[in-house]
Amino acid sequence: MTDARSRQVVIAGAGIAGLTAALAFSARGFPARLFEQANQLEAAGAGLQLSPNATRILRRLGVLERLLPNAIRPEAVVLKEARSLRELARVPLGTYGESRWGAPYLVAHRADLQVALMAAAADRPDIELVTGARVAAIAVQRQSVTATVETDGKTTEVAGRLLVGADGVWSSVRAELARTAGFAASRFCGELAWRATIPAQGAAGAAFAQIGAADCVTTFLHPGFHMVAYPVSKGSAVNLAAFTKGERIAEGWSGHADPAILAGAMRGTSAALARLVALAGPWTAFPIHTVEQRRWTMPEGIALIGDAAHAMTPFAAQGAAMGIEDASMLANLIADSPGDPAQGLAIWENLRRPRVERVLKRGALNRLAWHAWGPVAMARNLVLAARPAEKLAADLDWLYGWEEPQVARR
Ligand SMILES: Cc1cc2nc3c(=O)[nH]c(=O)nc-3n(C[C@H](O)[C@H](O)[C@H](O)COP(=O)(O)OP(=O)(O)OC[C@H]3O[C@@H](n4cnc5c(N)ncnc54)[C@H](O)[C@@H]3O)c2cc1C
Repeated sequence: MTDARSRQVVIAGAGIAGLTAALAFSARGFPARLFEQANQLEAAGAGLQLSPNATRILRRLGVLERLLPNAIRPEAVVLKEARSLRELARVPLGTYGESRWGAPYLVAHRADLQVALMAAAADRPDIELVTGARVAAIAVQRQSVTATVETDGKTTEVAGRLLVGADGVWSSVRAELARTAGFAASRFCGELAWRATIPAQGAAGAAFAQIGAADCVTTFLHPGFHMVAYPVSKGSAVNLAAFTKGERIAEGWSGHADPAILAGAMRGTSAALARLVALAGPWTAFPIHTVEQRRWTMPEGIALIGDAAHAMTPFAAQGAAMGIEDASMLANLIADSPGDPAQGLAIWENLRRPRVERVLKRGALNRLAWHAWGPVAMARNLVLAARPAEKLAADLDWLYGWEEPQVARR
């Protein structure tokens, strides 16, 4: 891989993982062509928590400085019982977290992250972003991979040394590999995510102010649901995300489901929380799909990253962060394995898998603990009460203090 053309990386999808990949490859001297099926990059979803393992990478890629003016540094993650509103635990973030983990813990609107990523990409002439362009098929040759891209009814063949499938949970690249190489499909995990964004000034904002702090990430725990609340848009709005069991509904970020499901799951919660949920509507619902895919690469030069590779439940708030880590490490390992990308791809997959699996386990544990009831909930509360805030923070060192392994770092 000597000249720029022979190092070209083709990326399907300009979400968080795809844009980060374009920046990370460009930073290592690999021109990137990014194809996004949407005509305009819309800010799907609402808020995002960005933990230090992700913001460290965004800082290195010149994205953090663009994001910071619109992001908020919460002071703590707070767990509260939804019935009593009693505080069960507090993990300190803010300046404490930043010095502990070496980068800030942020909350932001997804749109703000997307704008910051795009602004950083626009500053790099070797990144080309083509919108309204869908990667419809892929073909593998000996020294390159070709993507068939559909734009305005026209079809173009685009070759690159590497094809990165960053096209999300319903990935076309993975679907192609499912057809030809036995890759897996995504699956509905039986949970619905309910989202609402409320103005901080207003009746719902006032209802939130009574039960949560504007400078924290607050999670309300209950056997039938949990709800996460935090400020976005410079504190002018509060992002709410609640999670319940539910039937499969139409795929996408902004679907509709019967609000009675959410109301029913909340039986027994405090009146103040029920009032907030009622005032916050209308809620949009999102069916949570996961991907349990055993392989993420093809040695000929294909890698799946982010949700395309391992869409996960959001109970550790790490889906986007994992996509950011994937993208950065992939670019560094490919750059550090000159010639055939197969070796870099294999090392990348071997290093990423245990990390992602540990995060998946943490999400499953959170889900279990947050929805516990009866004696299990009592035991959970006792354990949390006995654990000092600093110990709770230390429990997260492996996750938030993560740095790319030496082999991948420049
Ligand atoms: C309720 C909820 C809360 C969450 N909260 C957090 C959180 O706090 N922190 C966190 O880190 N994560 C969180 N996540 C997870 C996070 O949102 C996702 O993991 C992340 O957005 C995935 O990014 P991605 O770039 O892999 O995929 P996507 O964001 O889905 O991007 C894929 C892109 O590819 C495009 N595309 C699709 N097919 C094609 C094609 N064939 N050709 C070209 N383009 C294509 C799509 O249009 C899209 O732009 C949450 C998820 C949910 C559901």
